[in-house]
Amino acid sequence: MAGLSSPLAIVILGPAALDTARRIQSRFDAARVHGLAHRVSADIAYDDFGEHMRELYRAGVPIVALCAAGIVIRALAPCLADKSAEPPVLAVAQDGSAVVPLLGGTSGVNALAREIGAALDIAPAITTSGELRFGQCLLAPPEGYALADIEQGKRFVSDLLAGATTRIEGGAPWLDAAALPLADDARLTVRITPHTVDDEHSLVIHPRCVLAWIDDDTGIVERVRIALRERGLSPLALAALVAPVHLMTSASLADAARALDLPLRFSDAAPFDSDDGIALQVHDAPVDAQSIGRARGTLTVIGLGPGNAESMTPAARAALDTAQDVLGYETYVRMAGPFRDDQRVHITDNREELQRARHAFELASEGRRVVVVSSGDPGVFAMAAAVLEALDRAYASQPAWRAVKLAILPGVSASLATAARAGAPLGHDFCVLSLSDNLKPWSVIEKRIAHAGEADLVMAFYNPLSKARPLQFDRAIDIVKRYRKPQTPVVLGRDIGRPAEALRVVTLGELKSEWVDMRTMVIVGSSTTRVVGDWVYTPRWYE
Ligand code: SAH
Repeated sequence: MAGLSSPLAIVILGPAALDTARRIQSRFDAARVHGLAHRVSADIAYDDFGEHMRELYRAGVPIVALCAAGIVIRALAPCLADKSAEPPVLAVAQDGSAVVPLLGGTSGVNALAREIGAALDIAPAITTSGELRFGQCLLAPPEGYALADIEQGKRFVSDLLAGATTRIEGGAPWLDAAALPLADDARLTVRITPHTVDDEHSLVIHPRCVLAWIDDDTGIVERVRIALRERGLSPLALAALVAPVHLMTSASLADAARALDLPLRFSDAAPFDSDDGIALQVHDAPVDAQSIGRARGTLTVIGLGPGNAESMTPAARAALDTAQDVLGYETYVRMAGPFRDDQRVHITDNREELQRARHAFELASEGRRVVVVSSGDPGVFAMAAAVLEALDRAYASQPAWRAVKLAILPGVSASLATAARAGAPLGHDFCVLSLSDNLKPWSVIEKRIAHAGEADLVMAFYNPLSKARPLQFDRAIDIVKRYRKPQTPVVLGRDIGRPAEALRVVTLGELKSEWVDMRTMVIVGSSTTRVVGDWVYTPRWYE
């Protein structure tokens, strides 16, 4: 079947559909289950079914809705005028007993229906006549091939349905099983060719069999277009842009690949010299871009947020979905999952941060898409600084690490997640401190608490207490008490965003270290922090 343009959205309304949804999900890369918030806990929560469906539809996301077909039709009715932008949309009975393709005839809905049918062990309810005979296999060629013109394709299929015969020119192995009305003297022709064809009696399918080898990075888009035109090749026949390794960090090259919608590969093994900086290499069959040289590796450091899926940013989610390697401490890697079989997971001990960062650079410099996970925000007492430290130490000696495309994606840090649950204790100036003395002397911690106390800042304490240093939290609080009244509100957030979440508001005077552990966030108010009802906040003003 044709590859899906974006990961499948499996939309459910309640827990009764979850089993079926997971069965379908297991069959599709990166598919996610979208569940109605407060009714069912799935991978992605939504609030309004109709709005959510329309948003997905307009974004071109293939949709499998586990509910009555009528509900889906009513939800999408306002968007149906524009048929060209139609992603596949299917209704599936909650108990998995029926699969009904509804929309997306030209974007592979029937192939999708068959695949879901296979997952659920039932026959899909295919209703399109062209598809039943030979429409779909002509208009949605398999990966590695592109249909030149969908409108012309539709006319071609209606001619066939009206009784015309056709010939096939070029290699189209998937059509062998299609039972097309073939005749050697047919007026119509299915042409499988990388060349542009201007002939109303042809259905043209381009194999992606052309590689564009570039050896300098200026004016690429224009030069590729000219080179294609000179040789009568279609842009749809391009399989990849290939450039020498020394151009790996070129931004104009990356822009050109994006503009041409092509994978970008790097190889110093150009098969021939060219004078004008570009050479087109035409193969006999589609070329798998993955098999040419290598990609520019990426290293993305993400924060998962405090723990619940809704607090993870969509950017972090997308990085996980496309990752080839995921590295992190076991608890966080488990939070980030589940992973597909093709994704490699590297679990390391929490304390081996620098080692993990180096390993990440090594994998990325081989061309892999690597994600390093932290909880909360990766820049707050977490992996982003370790990754940059590893780069810093190896900057001169590891040019391949410098060529890695590095990105750091922010996340919701524990202090922010805890503050939001409690109200707005960080509503005015505040500071964050780690009470762990693993990487800094305790005397520095004491001094900083004293200064923060004197400056009347709200304090958010990370790593407040561990078994290895049970008394230090009491010492920290003793210092705070020199600067704050006993009535000062203190927020204790434990496992915020996780199933065992617990929030407690106490006063500084009654605070006990037994209420605090390594999974707790401690926020100590300033002189102005107040309690109103169940809420804690620090006013925006200051006198
Ligand atoms: N990068 C993380 C912090 C790592 S330090 C972030 O930005 O949140 C680890 C400390 O963060 C823990 O000792 C605890 O104090 C705090 N913490 C992390 N997740 C938490 C959660 N879900 N609830 C409460 N505190 C949390």
